[in-house]
Amino acid sequence: MKILKYSRQRESIKECLAGRTDHPTADIIYTELREAFPNISLGTVYRNLNLLSDLGEIQKLACGDGKDHFDWNTTPHYHFICRHCGAVIDLPLMPLEELQRQAEIALGGSVDSHTIYFYGFCAPCSKKPAQEPS
Ligand code: ZN
Ligand code: MN
Repeated sequence: MKILKYSRQRESIKECLAGRTDHPTADIIYTELREAFPNISLGTVYRNLNLLSDLGEIQKLACGDGKDHFDWNTTPHYHFICRHCGAVIDLPLMPLEELQRQAEIALGGSVDSHTIYFYGFCAPCSKKPAQEPS
Protein backbone atom coordinates (compact mmCIF):
# COMPACT_ATOMS: atom_id res chain seq x y z
CA MET A 1 0.00 0.00 0.00
CA LYS A 2 1.25 3.41 -0.97
CA ILE A 3 1.71 5.65 2.06
CA LEU A 4 0.87 9.23 1.30
CA LYS A 5 2.95 11.94 2.84
CA TYR A 6 0.85 14.34 4.84
CA SER A 7 0.41 17.43 2.81
CA ARG A 8 -0.77 20.67 4.36
CA GLN A 9 -1.32 22.00 0.86
CA ARG A 10 -3.47 19.03 -0.11
CA GLU A 11 -5.60 19.51 3.02
CA SER A 12 -6.02 23.20 2.12
CA ILE A 13 -6.99 22.33 -1.44
CA LYS A 14 -9.62 19.92 -0.13
CA GLU A 15 -10.89 22.50 2.39
CA CYS A 16 -11.09 25.12 -0.35
CA LEU A 17 -13.28 22.82 -2.46
CA ALA A 18 -15.44 21.59 0.44
CA GLY A 19 -18.83 23.17 0.55
CA ARG A 20 -18.50 24.90 -2.83
CA THR A 21 -21.37 24.02 -5.13
CA ASP A 22 -19.97 25.77 -8.24
CA HIS A 23 -17.66 22.91 -9.36
CA PRO A 24 -14.53 25.07 -9.78
CA THR A 25 -11.62 24.38 -12.14
CA ALA A 26 -8.02 24.07 -10.91
CA ASP A 27 -7.44 27.71 -11.95
CA ILE A 28 -10.22 28.97 -9.71
CA ILE A 29 -8.97 26.95 -6.70
CA TYR A 30 -5.43 28.18 -7.41
CA THR A 31 -6.52 31.85 -7.50
CA GLU A 32 -8.33 31.45 -4.18
CA LEU A 33 -5.50 29.55 -2.44
CA ARG A 34 -2.78 31.91 -3.59
CA GLU A 35 -3.99 34.50 -1.09
CA ALA A 36 -3.20 32.16 1.83
CA PHE A 37 -0.27 30.35 0.16
CA PRO A 38 1.60 32.85 -2.03
CA ASN A 39 4.19 30.16 -2.97
CA ILE A 40 1.70 27.56 -4.20
CA SER A 41 1.88 26.77 -7.92
CA LEU A 42 -0.90 25.92 -10.35
CA GLY A 43 0.89 22.61 -11.02
CA THR A 44 0.74 21.69 -7.32
CA VAL A 45 -2.97 22.52 -7.17
CA TYR A 46 -3.67 20.54 -10.34
CA ARG A 47 -1.60 17.51 -9.22
CA ASN A 48 -3.26 17.41 -5.79
CA LEU A 49 -6.78 17.77 -7.23
CA ASN A 50 -6.07 14.82 -9.54
CA LEU A 51 -4.57 12.81 -6.68
CA LEU A 52 -7.62 13.49 -4.47
CA SER A 53 -9.82 12.43 -7.38
CA ASP A 54 -7.81 9.21 -7.92
CA LEU A 55 -8.18 8.48 -4.18
CA GLY A 56 -11.95 8.92 -4.50
CA GLU A 57 -11.97 11.80 -2.00
CA ILE A 58 -13.33 14.25 -4.57
CA GLN A 59 -14.96 13.88 -7.99
CA LYS A 60 -13.58 15.09 -11.32
CA LEU A 61 -16.08 16.20 -13.96
CA ALA A 62 -15.43 16.38 -17.70
CA CYS A 63 -18.28 18.63 -18.77
CA GLY A 64 -17.25 19.07 -22.37
CA ASP A 65 -15.67 22.53 -22.09
CA GLY A 66 -12.13 21.13 -22.19
CA LYS A 67 -11.47 21.91 -18.51
CA ASP A 68 -11.65 19.57 -15.55
CA HIS A 69 -14.14 20.67 -12.91
CA PHE A 70 -13.96 19.38 -9.34
CA ASP A 71 -16.72 18.42 -6.92
CA TRP A 72 -16.28 17.60 -3.20
CA ASN A 73 -19.55 15.65 -3.36
CA THR A 74 -18.63 12.08 -4.36
CA THR A 75 -22.13 10.64 -4.06
CA PRO A 76 -23.67 9.93 -7.50
CA HIS A 77 -25.63 12.93 -8.76
CA TYR A 78 -26.39 14.67 -12.05
CA HIS A 79 -25.13 17.94 -13.48
CA PHE A 80 -26.40 20.61 -15.84
CA ILE A 81 -24.03 22.78 -17.90
CA CYS A 82 -25.15 26.20 -19.19
CA ARG A 83 -24.24 26.81 -22.83
CA HIS A 84 -24.15 30.56 -22.23
CA CYS A 85 -22.33 31.18 -18.91
CA GLY A 86 -20.70 27.76 -18.46
CA ALA A 87 -22.16 27.24 -14.98
CA VAL A 88 -22.04 23.62 -13.74
CA ILE A 89 -25.13 23.09 -11.57
CA ASP A 90 -26.17 20.14 -9.37
CA LEU A 91 -29.50 18.62 -10.38
CA PRO A 92 -31.48 17.06 -7.54
CA LEU A 93 -32.88 14.12 -9.51
CA MET A 94 -33.63 10.56 -8.46
CA PRO A 95 -30.96 8.13 -9.73
CA LEU A 96 -32.03 6.82 -13.15
CA GLU A 97 -31.82 3.14 -12.21
CA GLU A 98 -34.22 2.07 -14.96
CA LEU A 99 -31.99 3.70 -17.60
CA GLN A 100 -28.95 1.90 -16.20
CA ARG A 101 -30.89 -1.39 -16.24
CA GLN A 102 -31.80 -0.79 -19.89
CA ALA A 103 -28.14 -0.08 -20.71
CA GLU A 104 -27.22 -3.37 -19.09
CA ILE A 105 -29.81 -5.24 -21.17
CA ALA A 106 -28.61 -3.54 -24.38
CA LEU A 107 -25.00 -4.41 -23.48
CA GLY A 108 -25.63 -7.97 -22.36
CA GLY A 109 -22.95 -7.44 -19.74
CA SER A 110 -22.87 -5.64 -16.42
CA VAL A 111 -23.18 -1.87 -15.87
CA ASP A 112 -22.23 -0.53 -12.43
CA SER A 113 -22.38 3.24 -12.88
CA HIS A 114 -23.29 6.00 -15.29
CA THR A 115 -22.64 9.70 -15.83
CA ILE A 116 -25.11 12.08 -17.46
CA TYR A 117 -24.64 15.76 -18.28
CA PHE A 118 -27.64 17.90 -19.20
CA TYR A 119 -27.07 20.97 -21.43
CA GLY A 120 -29.06 24.11 -22.11
CA PHE A 121 -29.48 27.58 -20.62
CA CYS A 122 -29.57 28.12 -16.83
CA ALA A 123 -32.45 30.08 -15.25
CA PRO A 124 -30.74 33.54 -15.27
CA CYS A 125 -29.39 33.01 -18.83
CA SER A 126 -32.84 31.91 -20.06
CA LYS A 127 -34.33 35.17 -18.82
CA LYS A 128 -31.76 37.48 -20.46
CA PRO A 129 -32.99 39.21 -23.62
CA ALA A 130 -31.16 38.09 -26.76
CA GLN A 131 -28.01 40.16 -27.37
CA GLU A 132 -28.24 42.55 -30.30
CA PRO A 133 -25.33 42.00 -32.69
CA SER A 134 -23.02 45.01 -32.41
ZN1 ZN B 1 -26.05 30.45 -17.60
MN1 MN C 1 -21.99 18.28 -8.16
